Amino acid sequence: MPSKPISIVVIGGSHAGLGVSHRLLRRISPTSEATPIRLTLINPSNEYYFNIAAPRFLVKPGSLSSNQYLYPIAHSFQGYPDGSFNFVRGLVRRIDKNDKVVQVERLGKKEQKGQGEEDITSVDEETISYSYDYLVIASGSTTPATLGLTGLKIPFKADGLEDTRSGIENASKELAAAKSVVIGGGGPLGVELAGELAEAAGPKKRINLVSRSEALLTSPGMGAMEDVRVGNKAESLLRAKGVEVLKSAMVEKVTQDPETKKWIVELMPTGQRIEADAYVDTTGTIPNNVFIPKSYLNDDGWVNVDAHFRVVDGETSRSDTYAVGDITCHPYRLLSRISGQAEAVVSNIEASIGGQKRLVTYSAEAQRKMLVVPVGQSTGAGHFGGWPLIGCLVWYFKGRDFLAYKALKFLMGEAH
Ligand SMILES: Cc1cc2nc3c(=O)[nH]c(=O)nc-3n(C[C@H](O)[C@H](O)[C@H](O)COP(=O)(O)OP(=O)(O)OC[C@H]3O[C@@H](n4cnc5c(N)ncnc54)[C@H](O)[C@@H]3O)c2cc1C
Repeated sequence: MPSKPISIVVIGGSHAGLGVSHRLLRRISPTSEATPIRLTLINPSNEYYFNIAAPRFLVKPGSLSSNQYLYPIAHSFQGYPDGSFNFVRGLVRRIDKNDKVVQVERLGKKEQKGQGEEDITSVDEETISYSYDYLVIASGSTTPATLGLTGLKIPFKADGLEDTRSGIENASKELAAAKSVVIGGGGPLGVELAGELAEAAGPKKRINLVSRSEALLTSPGMGAMEDVRVGNKAESLLRAKGVEVLKSAMVEKVTQDPETKKWIVELMPTGQRIEADAYVDTTGTIPNNVFIPKSYLNDDGWVNVDAHFRVVDGETSRSDTYAVGDITCHPYRLLSRISGQAEAVVSNIEASIGGQKRLVTYSAEAQRKMLVVPVGQSTGAGHFGGWPLIGCLVWYFKGRDFLAYKALKFLMGEAH
């Protein structure tokens, strides 16, 4: 007689959650006699959003079609045995760590009882609860612009509560219509967006890029990725495209004139005021953590994990709860870090199910550092393990389509 399936719940259907889910279903046979698994993936949207290419498709909508950056999630799991996978469109509202249950606000079809039924502990019109043996938190992060906190509302990250397609369309139209744009933040996103805007519109559009640090791409959070030479190269490429780069300046206040709809951006320490048709905030990373027990979080709101990605609850590593991707306390919240992290999480869940003590260890510092920042289609700046990249290599690695050619691999948890 086959054993009762082990129930694994994954919260978040983006790069990290999908990477872990597909790897788990491939590695731990859902039909295994000894340890079958049943995986429930919870995400507020039906679609996987390849946000990495956002600077390209927001500014040049014709360059990529929507099916190169939006993919139906459930469809990608069709190849696994019946009953082994269950997709729930919803937003996790609460983790009950003692009873090992997650409570989900239902956003999809209400008659979704059926698949994964065995793990449902309660259901009503608004919510549905799932019990778990193992939980993987992959709820990631959002940005001020995604939430529309300052300046234009732009879906740099998935915002499952709204229609991503219409969000993209609206933001794209506003960026195209603006004759003047101020971009706050001289990190990779600010530089990439400025490069795309300048290339698409030429001298017709006035673009100001405001950078807090003296060199671009060296903002706090870049850590060991930063390299002043790369920042200087990006700056000279942007200036050649007509972008005005304001360095050692901070955006102090942003307001919108209710009549003219112009944005007024005030800078520190100079007191300079710039009026523009659009202000785009590319700064800040905000953890999606409202539903996570406070005892799992560090002072900045990220989930504490040990070197094996087990969630640290107070002082204790939990062997039933893992976190992966942006939501963890690991530095460098980057897509390029996810494959290594997902591999470690999956190996360690597999080891735990099999009763093995030896766990895979992940070190953020050991992974090779690289930075690839296109400035327009055909050139850009970057380094690979400290070796500077020439413009055509930046085109080859990223600039040609902002990695859209790899999106399907990320969706299937096959990218490295
Ligand atoms: C515009 C942009 C460009 C970038 N470009 C690069 C790049 O070129 N290279 C690179 O390495 N990195 C890049 N990054 C960083 C990269 O996007 C992140 O590292 C990556 O998205 C992290 O993936 P994740 O799956 O951990 O989290 P996220 O992508 O943030 O996904 C989290 C998922 O969880 C869901 N979720 C949130 N809360 C809940 C809940 N309560 N219940 C259920 N689901 C929930 C969300 O809707 C989302 O689907 C870029 C970031 C931005 C904003």
